[in-house]
Amino acid sequence: MADDAQHRIAEFIEPFRVEPGSKVKLGRDFDPAFKAGVKKKRKGRKLLAEGVKILAEYQERLAAQDTWGVLLVLQALDAAGKDGTIRHVMSGVNPQGVSVHGFKVPSAEELDHDFLWRYAKRLPARGEIGIFNRSYYEETLVVRVHPENLDRQRLPRAAKKGDIWNRRYREINDWERYLTDNGFRIVKLFLNLSKEEQRRRFLRRIDLPDHNWKFSAADVRERECFDDYRKAMSETLSHTSTEWAPWYVIPADRKWFMRIGAAAVLAHTLMEIDPRFPAVSDERRQQLQEVKGGLEAEAPDGAAPDPFEAELRRKAGNGDGRAKDVPVAGGAAG
Ligand code: ATP
Ligand code: MG
Repeated sequence: MADDAQHRIAEFIEPFRVEPGSKVKLGRDFDPAFKAGVKKKRKGRKLLAEGVKILAEYQERLAAQDTWGVLLVLQALDAAGKDGTIRHVMSGVNPQGVSVHGFKVPSAEELDHDFLWRYAKRLPARGEIGIFNRSYYEETLVVRVHPENLDRQRLPRAAKKGDIWNRRYREINDWERYLTDNGFRIVKLFLNLSKEEQRRRFLRRIDLPDHNWKFSAADVRERECFDDYRKAMSETLSHTSTEWAPWYVIPADRKWFMRIGAAAVLAHTLMEIDPRFPAVSDERRQQLQEVKGGLEAEAPDGAAPDPFEAELRRKAGNGDGRAKDVPVAGGAAG
């Protein structure tokens, strides 16, 4: 059953995956309006609900196992819907197991360090899903499109010589490989919005008073560099999609489809990790039985020694499937 779902999800996300080593040209290779044969928004909503359920289940196991961590990297042009994707895709998971960090223009303190420093400080712990709303990939995108950002980075002259971008790609690939080797899986999503859909969304933000706060004049200035960003992103995808941390380009012109795509890629990674609840050792089980005996002996007159166990047995007798998941105490657990 789980294998079946995993297989379906793997097939669904395949068209979004950037084959490591391939040369990507966004405008040519990825259609922002693609919807993988999902015709109706209603059907889309159902699929998203399924995805959210899978994520909730796997995140709980990820936290319980406390061995792997997951970093979700979200990159997009303005108005592609990073915030809404985070809100919807993570709607079912326990907030205690998730951290979200947004990255803006670097501070003076951040500029006083190596370029990966501020991102390294925000990495998720084992058992956690960390989300980067923008990420170290800004270092090969906005920094490349607006070179004055690089001037502010206070790099020694030698570090600016030669092909700085190819070097950055290599450094990022190495860093991601190091993280993956040490138990942190990296899921990288580029939310691919068309220029026309961005225009419509900006207008919406201007026309709807409740959305005015989301709009900034800077967004329109950045729009003038749309093609430069697309080129820098194509280069980034071509050089940093690796076997250990591949990129996925998610069609973003339809928000509902984008959310399914994002949820599916994250779910796929969690299913690959396949985290398990820790097994209880015989010794530990024995200890629990001793504690249980003590608690039962404290039952006041007339009270069931273990009301929970009585309830479990009743449910098991009624054929309630849930009871089977709970190891009924009393030595017969397992
Ligand atoms: P919102 O949805 O709220 O607009 P946002 O992520 O677009 O979210 P903004 O404050 O509008 O947030 O923009 C952050 C800006 O910071 C972006 O223009 C981004 O390119 C810029 N930025 C992020 N990282 C870097 C960096 N390393 N160097 C220079 N600029 C950066
Ligand atoms: Mg913005």
